[in-house]
Parts: sequence; C-alpha cells; structure tokens
Amino acid sequence: MERFVLKGKLLLDGTGRPPIENGVVLIEGNRIVAAGEEKNVIPPANVKVIDCGAQVLIPGLIDCHNHLAMDPTLENWPARLNDSDAEQALRATVHMGIDLKAGVTTARCLGDKNFLDVACKRAVASGQLVGPRLIVATRGIRATHGHGFVGYPFDGPDQIRRAVRENLKAGADFIKLFITGTVRQGREIQSYLSREEISVAVQEAHRANVCVTAHCIGGIGLEECLAAGVEAIEHGYFLSDREIDLLLKAGRWLVLTPSPYFSEERVRTLPLEIADAFRRGREEVAERMSAIIKGGIKFAVGTDGRHGGLAQEIEYLVRLGASEKEALRAATHHAAVVCGLEGIIGTIEPGKMADIVGLMGNPLDDIRNLKKVGTVISRGKLLYSGVNE
Ligand SMILES: [Zn+2]
Repeated sequence: MERFVLKGKLLLDGTGRPPIENGVVLIEGNRIVAAGEEKNVIPPANVKVIDCGAQVLIPGLIDCHNHLAMDPTLENWPARLNDSDAEQALRATVHMGIDLKAGVTTARCLGDKNFLDVACKRAVASGQLVGPRLIVATRGIRATHGHGFVGYPFDGPDQIRRAVRENLKAGADFIKLFITGTVRQGREIQSYLSREEISVAVQEAHRANVCVTAHCIGGIGLEECLAAGVEAIEHGYFLSDREIDLLLKAGRWLVLTPSPYFSEERVRTLPLEIADAFRRGREEVAERMSAIIKGGIKFAVGTDGRHGGLAQEIEYLVRLGASEKEALRAATHHAAVVCGLEGIIGTIEPGKMADIVGLMGNPLDDIRNLKKVGTVISRGKLLYSGVNE
C-alpha cells in the first residue's frame, strides 16, 4: 500500500479546531492515518514526503448541488439538457475533470437525464474515469405541469411511487423532488406536487433508508415537505421569515445555490424572458439569503451545475453575511452530512478518506483564496500539483 506524508504551512482540518501551523498528514492507501502538528505525527522511516511548501491544506471540497451534464455557459443551456445522451455524457466527462481540478473531490448530483449520473458514478468508482466521488439522485421527479429541466413528469401517488422505486432500482442514493419553480411568479409560490404525492415519495424512499430532498423556493410546498419528512431543501430563494423559522425548528438542511441569481455570466445565456425574471429577483434573493444565513439554519452549498465554480458560490455566501469559517464548512463538513458521508469525508482526520486540497493562501483570511488551488489529492492519489515533490 502506498504511503506518504503531506506537508503544508497551515492545516485547516475542518473539525472546528484551530488552524495547525506546519501541519502534516500521513496517508496510507486511500485513507488518512494521522494528521496534526509535525512534532506529533511520527511518519514511518523512508516514507515519501510531498511538501506543499506555503500551501494551506483543507479537506476536499464537496459540491452539494451538481448536475453533471449541465453547462450554464452554453447559449440557452436548459435546452441543451435535451441533447443526445452521447453529447451529454461527453460533457459530463469533461465537467468532472474541471470540478476535480477546482478541488471538488465529491459531488452530490441532483438529477441528470437517462441515469447518466449512475454511469458516471460507476465509472469513477471503478477508475475508468477521473472525477469526484459521486452520490446521485438519478431522475428528478416532477409534476407534468411543474418545473424541472432535469426532471421527468409523474402524476398521482401511484406514478410517484413507481418513479421512486425505479430510481432506487437504477441506483439512486437519494430522491429528488421538484416542488416549485426557481423564479417567483406572482405573490403565492405554487407547489406543483400535492401533499399526498410528496408523502408517498418520502414513505417509499424511507422504506429503502434513502433520504429525500426537494427543489423548493418557499411557499406552501415547503411546509408540506417538512411535514412529510423531507430531509433537505434545495435553493430556498424566497423563504419568508416564518418559513426560515419552520426550517430551523424542524432542524432540516438547506442547500444554498447563489449563482443562478447572482452570476450575470450565467443569467445572460438564458432566454431573455427567464433571464429578466432572475434579474428582477436578484435583490430580494440577496436579502432572503442573508436572512437565512443570519437565521441559524444549517446550510450547505452547491454550484447547480456551474462546473469549476464552487469557490465562487462560497464567496457569495461570505458576501451575504456568512463568516469565512462557516462558508468553508458549508462545502466540507456540512456538505458531508447532507450527503450522509460524514463518517468518511468532510474533515482531515485519521480514518477518513484522503481527500485533501492545497491552497496558495488562507481562505479564512480571504475566501477568494479558494480559487487558488495548488494541490488536489483524491482518495489518496495526488492528481494535481504545482509543487515540488
Ligand atoms: Zn439543480
């Protein structure tokens, strides 16, 4: 089994402990064996050393809301989610490389067409393709008249039950429901799935010990999801104060995805009418996200398919009022909990997977340092490095 010691100027292990100066991590195979101050970690004789010099070591990042084949830089990108399976598979392959290079060693996939995510997950796990570790929702489940570019329509409890069971059979790690749209239309936010349909989906998933998450920007659908036992809410762009309180009391997770509203680069590739709806909502969403961050809700963060952009999403969180530490946790420890993988990823601790990123500056001093990735180690393998070995 390959063994090596990784050294950095600073180690942020992600556990909440203070930063460790001159930190070292001992890695054996794909696991972390020891981590801490140089004087406390005694490596075996003649072990290989990878010295990252002035770099700051942090846990591998987790994109908590991803779509493998989505590319918001393409003109009218929602339409491109109807491209052939072959085209989408090629895009997904390229995207996984981009994500990994940006320090994303795990991605939670919230829906792709035709079970592409399952194929990618297996290809990465077997070593056939290079990419982040994936956990997958397979097909998004939506109502016929509802929103969801990566969703498939199902109506009524029986169809919903069948959809959940088919997703599970195909290899879904969790179930994704589309409850609302993404932009606000009118005062009341419409919920497309009925209370009964949501309940059936949750019951079926829970019988298989699988979690359910809901694309929901607020409104009556949020209450129905919480009552039915949904574990997490995606986006939450327009949560009212009352809904923030409900989410807080229920102790459920919210996965924030700032860029669809805040990145003009992303908005301008949309058809004019949709782009304008995002622009119109920008100010309100900023105000609501700040309220969410201040409100004490447990949150993680994701790119919603903006590959290589996780550092930018985390930067938005800081601009909206999160501390650097909190924002970093949203893409490490907290995201690991949302994925149900907190036992194996999210922190740099003995026994965990050796997913480690080296940065050219301290993200706690300036969150933009997350964009300066110098080293990526995924499952104990050095993939990218700008340093001397
Ligand atoms: Zn999404």
